[in-house]
Amino acid sequence: MVSKDVIFDEVRRVGREWVIRGRVRSRSRPNTWHSVEVRIRRLRNGEVAMVGRCDCEAFTKGHMVCWHMLHLTNAFIKNRHRLVSGLGFSVNY
Ligand SMILES: [Zn+2]
Repeated sequence: MVSKDVIFDEVRRVGREWVIRGRVRSRSRPNTWHSVEVRIRRLRNGEVAMVGRCDCEAFTKGHMVCWHMLHLTNAFIKNRHRLVSGLGFSVNY
């Protein structure tokens, strides 16, 4: 699935986690796409835990959760029914 600034390369359910790999367009350099991988899971108390990595400077130099990770996660959550039904999963995220 391709949107204006997110491309999903892989969406996988691994145990209680979702593993999402994709590319997110840079906001400052529109011709640059960052490779992003995030893993998200819903905890018993209702909180969502997210970890991941990205090839942008904020992450590689600052080890910060960057905008690209958040954007990929957000795009997944908004589109998960479409993404996941295309892959034949059932969803209880
Ligand atoms: Zn990033």
